[in-house]
Amino acid sequence: MYVIMLGAPGTGKGTVGNLLSRELNVPHISSGEIFRSYVKKHGEIGKKIDSFISYGRLVPDDLAIELIEKRLQETDVENGAILDGFPRTLPQAKVLDTMLKNNNKKIEVAVNLSLPDEEIISRIVTRRTCPNPMCREIYNLDYNPPKVEGICNKCGTKLIQRSDDNEETVKERLKIYHQISENIIDYYKNKDLLYTVKLNNSSNTTTKDVAKEIKEYLLK
Ligand code: AMP
Repeated sequence: MYVIMLGAPGTGKGTVGNLLSRELNVPHISSGEIFRSYVKKHGEIGKKIDSFISYGRLVPDDLAIELIEKRLQETDVENGAILDGFPRTLPQAKVLDTMLKNNNKKIEVAVNLSLPDEEIISRIVTRRTCPNPMCREIYNLDYNPPKVEGICNKCGTKLIQRSDDNEETVKERLKIYHQISENIIDYYKNKDLLYTVKLNNSSNTTTKDVAKEIKEYLLK
């Protein structure tokens, strides 16, 4: 089962994707995580990626596609995956279609998480992330704080604030989202694959509720 998580940065693609991956027993593949792991290695590719991520810009299609294609060829994704953050452009969406079609696979649903920009900014600047690659739990200081300040509930690792989770970079990421990435919503709508979940910070809907709603839709 291949599920695509669409939506602007900060709408909860990662948190919901993580939950869905556990519930549906397929890997959660986050393009942002993959790119950050290259940045950490400090090689040439990492330096190139960092020069886009740290300014809130998209990694160029050819590089993004090459690295995600590589990940999608690994054996653990044979039965499906939750794709979080990829595709983000039309060329990426088209390449993904071809890649899956060539392997007799298809996308089950493209979930679009929608939240107003002002609420996104407030969510992102209070977001904290577990850097442990085996855990990657995501917290929010306002509505989902860790039990012990600064420490991951699940694995005890010290939480971090991603370097691109600051107001200035978020505004640039949102600008790019509306200019480029939002277009792929129509691409999936036209294929009758789109499922939109409207969120807002004042409702009591938790990421668990959202994951449950998507799971029910998928297993219907
Ligand atoms: P995310 O963790 O999904 O918020 O992604 C963090 C950053 O990684 C983005 O702001 C982009 O710079 C880069 N990125 C992630 N996914 C993609 C993609 N599919 N195409 C291009 N750049 C991406």
